[in-house]
Amino acid sequence: MSIASKIVFLKEKLPQNVRLVAVSKTHSVADILEAYNAGQRIFGESRAQEMAAKQRALPPDMEWHFIGPLQCNKVKDMASFVHTIHSVDSLRLLGEINKQAAKHSRIINVLLEIHIAKEENKHGFAPSECPAILREDDLNMLRNIRICGLMGIATLTDEKDVMAQEFRSLHNLWSELKAELFNNNPFFTEISMGMTADYEIAVAEGSTMVRIGSFIFS
Ligand SMILES: *Cc1c(COP(=O)(O)O)cnc(C)c1O
Repeated sequence: MSIASKIVFLKEKLPQNVRLVAVSKTHSVADILEAYNAGQRIFGESRAQEMAAKQRALPPDMEWHFIGPLQCNKVKDMASFVHTIHSVDSLRLLGEINKQAAKHSRIINVLLEIHIAKEENKHGFAPSECPAILREDDLNMLRNIRICGLMGIATLTDEKDVMAQEFRSLHNLWSELKAELFNNNPFFTEISMGMTADYEIAVAEGSTMVRIGSFIFS
């Protein structure tokens, strides 16, 4: 199947309320253009410099999402154009995104990455620390970020029950936070979960954004 036909396949398969982030990391500008020409507009990258170079080389109406681990000193490389950062895992990083977004008079959407997997090496806030972090008074001062939801990566496993249970825990945490802290906030709507290996399970568990790379590009 070509890149274009895989985009069409996924668009038909995913429910209307689930957005597709085409994860184009390590793939060429030509491959990305093929996906673009098939109608895809949202692309995900996991390295700051690579994303910035691609953004300069590609059409201006693409929505760039950053999904990888992010160091504070790299935020400035993407602040002028990044649409959503999925992988926010510290208050310090939130502050830096806000500062760099303000320099460009922009608002950057952010998702808090939550550690839902059994594996130690995955990033993110512990689910239990999340409510306290979101109650920090300082957060209200950050006018140039918009907290739009949560992101999670499930354990790399063949056990569907394990993945489903981890995704469900992310959905439950999102529901709790929505009810307690974001009740009147129209922007807290996203649950970014699901990749090539597990997106069907994630969609069944309430994902609103799937991040799919290898299925599309390899
Ligand atoms: C690479 C990556 C993806 C895409 O994974 P595939 O298995 O290629 O679909 C999704 N999310 C994150 C955070 C990634 O780094």
